[in-house]
Amino acid sequence: METLLLGRDSLSKAAELLIKDEVVAIPTETVYGLAANALKEDCVRKIYEAKGRPSDNPLIIHISKKEDVYLYAKEVSEKAEKLMDKFWPGPLTLIFKKKDIVPYKTTGGLDTVAIRMPKNEIALEIISKCNFPLAAPSANISGKPSPTSFSHVVFDMEGKISAIVDGGDCNVGVESTVLSAVDDEFILLRPGGVTPKEIEEVVGEIKISQSILNELDEKKEKVISPGMKYKHYAPNGNLYLVSGEEEKVIGFLKEKSKTHKTGIICYDDYSDIKGENVIKIGEKEDLSNQAKKIFSALRKFDNKEIREIYSVYPSSEGIGLAVLNRMLRAAGFNVIELG
Ligand code: AMP
Ligand code: MG
Repeated sequence: METLLLGRDSLSKAAELLIKDEVVAIPTETVYGLAANALKEDCVRKIYEAKGRPSDNPLIIHISKKEDVYLYAKEVSEKAEKLMDKFWPGPLTLIFKKKDIVPYKTTGGLDTVAIRMPKNEIALEIISKCNFPLAAPSANISGKPSPTSFSHVVFDMEGKISAIVDGGDCNVGVESTVLSAVDDEFILLRPGGVTPKEIEEVVGEIKISQSILNELDEKKEKVISPGMKYKHYAPNGNLYLVSGEEEKVIGFLKEKSKTHKTGIICYDDYSDIKGENVIKIGEKEDLSNQAKKIFSALRKFDNKEIREIYSVYPSSEGIGLAVLNRMLRAAGFNVIELG
């Protein structure tokens, strides 16, 4: 299939393809999304095929106006409305009981639907030109790091979908926060651009799913967010997160940086660690910058035949929790404790 590479001046073309039931990759503020009509099973099937995604992993549907939530969600509580008012457009996905109009193919067979309004002019314009919401999971091949720049999407999706829209680099860099709002009970299922603290300022204390920082034990925890079952975001080489006293971590990474075909991910502040396979993801305290850079760091090693990658163990504060969650999954929970 020929994949059209579209610029900001071709948003009508992008919408036209979507209206013709095609799949188009679009930029959002979080990561690039693989978009198609969320209300048609055939369109959603095309997304799963292009990604190679297990079809019990539900998709988020993207809307361009807050009011549209009532078209697809059955019960929207006052608290949920407060969250929408505060964080939409933005990187917060809310889960509600679904209306019949949303096919089970989109929700991975669940009776609930995940909805978000993205904060990206290109995405909003394309959605508003279609008279349906867009299902749009991250535009990567399933299991690979999410795409945060146009070139990442071209690498994964050229030849597999109808078009890719270039919107430059994504502002946030990690996927949206996923929060269940079913029965007016709030449960954080995936950390993302909106932090638990910001949510709690609006609705009071929320529950945090165990699986955010732990390997999911299906016997102990009901799988409410099927996406958490799968290995995710993984680079080709084996990734290890190195935790412990900072001096020791620096020493360890410095030694490893001298090893052949070994990659290092660390902070800009670690000026002693250098080399062609050392990737810096921002200052230690600059958690937003780390979020912006993490997926592209994981992808960079894929072009270089790197067999092992050692990374700092990210902070769990603020948006750091989202980075840590992605890194633990990318590493398959391989953590080296230096004591
Ligand atoms: P992605 O589209 O790649 O950003 O992944 C979407 C995430 O949202 C996955 O982790 C899904 O498991 C989660 N998700 C989507 N819909 C639902 C839903 N109805 N209930 C629970 N989690 C959902
Ligand atoms: Mg994804």
